[in-house]
Order: sequence, then C-alpha cells, then structure tokens
Amino acid sequence: MEKTLVIVKPDGVQRNLIGEIISRFERSGLKLVALKMMTADEKMVEKHYTLDPKWLENVGNKSIDSYKKKGLTPPTEDPVALGKEVLARLKKYVSVGPVIPMIWEGSQAVAMVRKICGGTEPLSAPAGTIRGDYTSESYQFADADERAIRNLVHASGSVEEAANEIDLWFDKKEIMDYRVIRDIIINDKDWKIA
Ligand code: GDP
Ligand code: MG
Repeated sequence: MEKTLVIVKPDGVQRNLIGEIISRFERSGLKLVALKMMTADEKMVEKHYTLDPKWLENVGNKSIDSYKKKGLTPPTEDPVALGKEVLARLKKYVSVGPVIPMIWEGSQAVAMVRKICGGTEPLSAPAGTIRGDYTSESYQFADADERAIRNLVHASGSVEEAANEIDLWFDKKEIMDYRVIRDIIINDKDWKIA
C-alpha cells in the first residue's frame, strides 16, 4: 500500500471543483486517510517544492523539453534558472487562497493519482483527467503572463516525494488508519462472496 499527497490548489477551490476532484479519487478505489482546509504561506510553498533538491532542475528541463517538442523556443536553456522562476511564481499562486491538502492510500496510489490528474500542462493532458477536463492552461500562456501554470491540483510525483510531502503537510495524528470492506474486493486474493 502506498500513500500520496494531493492538494486542491487555490484555483480548484475558487472554481467549485473540490467535490468533483475528490469524487474522482473516491471512485478509483483509493481510500481517503487525511483531509483539511488551510492557507499556506509563501514559505510553506517554497519548502514543499524544494523538499527534493533536484526539483528546480527537473522542472526546468521538463518545461524546456515541452517547448522544443512543439517546435517553440524555450524562454531560456538554463533549467535551474527556469526552475527558480517557476518557484517564485508558484509561491504567489499556491498561497493566494485556501487549499485542500489530502492523503489518498491504496495499491500504487502515487501512479494512480498522477494518472487521474493528468500531466503538468492542462492543454496537453488527456480528456478524462482533472487537468485535461477543467482548464486549457498551457506553458506558453502561463509563461507569457509570468505566472505559474494554473492546473487545479498538486499530486506527489514519486513514493519518496509523497513521504516527504506528507510529513510536511500533516501531523501523524491527522492521518487515519482504518479498514473498509472494499479493500477486500480490490486487493484480497481470497475474496469470496459467501
Ligand atoms: P507537477 O508535479 O505536474 O505539478 O509539476 P512540477 O512539479 O514539474 O511543477 C510544479 C508546478 O509548477 C506545476 O504544477 C505548475 O503549476 C508549475 N509549473 C511547472 N512548470 C512550469 C513552467 O514551465 N512554467 C510555468 N509558468 N509554470 C510551471
Ligand atoms: Mg511535481
């Protein structure tokens, strides 16, 4: 069983998509084990995105690749410089209003949640994903306006990232440990009807 962190970002809250987003994870068979509403200040947002020292470089590289794949010129060829710019924009975006952090648990929860959310850029995220269905935001539009891509949700990118992020956003006592009958149907090799 894995645990993963999801955050409904301020645009998801403002657009009345909290219930819609939660229901997509509920229907997937994952189990909700923690949830709260709060505002995160810029310091908290910076901490969140710099838990992984490689994140700045990775985010820059991902963005540069996306420009090149579309035959466009990236704003810079320096991934760390681009990462720093993205971080500055994220600090403003994610701290602008209330957010809903939550923890979802289940078999391969990290990959499952990423699939349900879709890729970072809503414009290229497939229909049927949260990011693909509810906004047409793109790298080019966000970068031209010098703001972070408004993509409604955060989802941990790996099991290690999830563990660090969960530690940052939740106290141990806020995380529920409980059984649901559907766990047997989804995961038990000896499941019997009668
Ligand atoms: P995620 O794991 O899919 O959320 O993506 P990352 O961890 O790579 O980036 C974190 C967040 O930064 C994304 O969800 C976007 O909100 C924003 N972001 C990432 N890359 C860019 C970029 O190149 N330009 C802009 N404007 N925002 C970006
Ligand atoms: Mg990420």
